Amino acid sequence: MHDLRCIECGTNYSGDDVIYTCMECGGLLDVIYDYDKISLTKKELSKQPLSVWKYRDLLPIHREPVTLQEGGTQLYRLERLAEDLGIEEAYVKHEGMNPTGSFKDRGMTVGVTKAIELGMSTVACASTGNTSASLSIYAARAGMPAVVLLPAGKVALGKVAQALMHGAKVLTIRGNFDEALRLVRDLCTKEDFYLLNSINPYRLEGQKTIAFEVAEQLQWNVPDRIVLPVGNAGNITAIHKGFKELKKLGLTETVPKMTGIQAEGASPITRTS
Ligand SMILES: *Cc1c(COP(=O)(O)O)cnc(C)c1O
Ligand SMILES: [Zn+2]
Repeated sequence: MHDLRCIECGTNYSGDDVIYTCMECGGLLDVIYDYDKISLTKKELSKQPLSVWKYRDLLPIHREPVTLQEGGTQLYRLERLAEDLGIEEAYVKHEGMNPTGSFKDRGMTVGVTKAIELGMSTVACASTGNTSASLSIYAARAGMPAVVLLPAGKVALGKVAQALMHGAKVLTIRGNFDEALRLVRDLCTKEDFYLLNSINPYRLEGQKTIAFEVAEQLQWNVPDRIVLPVGNAGNITAIHKGFKELKKLGLTETVPKMTGIQAEGASPITRTS
């Protein structure tokens, strides 16, 4: 039903493989669909309330989802902000209304469901915050063990508390986030755990539903521009993909200009461009 394709060299992999990055070049993998076989109509979509799983035709999952009713977040119109900015309309999508308080839940519902579909029995990630909280709650929902690796002293305590409360095994390592990520990748290979860091291609598929919801909430009118915070640029890439898919399927006519924002103290992408 779907394949994986390296975004750097174009090598294809089966969607049945447990694989995170390209074996030829190390590039990230994108989920590829046969769009000719997908037909979505505005009328059919309008019959269901907003949620990640209402767009399951555009998600790479073929089993019952592990879900906590993520998505369907409010889109607020901000009249005073629009006026201040001198634009006609401005909206903010309140992704904090997801089950664990961040947009990561959209990706994790898909990622943890994929782990089960692939026959994996433990999920893992390295994280300093929202990713570990989200992974832990979806693993708990699925009755699956979760392992979280944290760099000592560089974490959001409230988020670690969420992971602990939901029964994740939380391990602290000496070193920074990159070292935690390297360790968790090794751990996943050695122990046959399923890795759900942002290199996992399936999380982004859940995150692209932000685009679907925004379009639907605006009666299939696409905004001129989307502005969002950027870390690894996974979410911005996912939302852009979502809008491209809607256009490909004939549901919308344009794709917004994407604007990413990075904090001064954590701005590798801004500094390279
Ligand atoms: C994960 C996260 C980001 C970074 O997202 P990327 O997909 O890595 O760009 C930004 N803000 C919040 C609140 C997050 O949880
Ligand atoms: Zn490659």
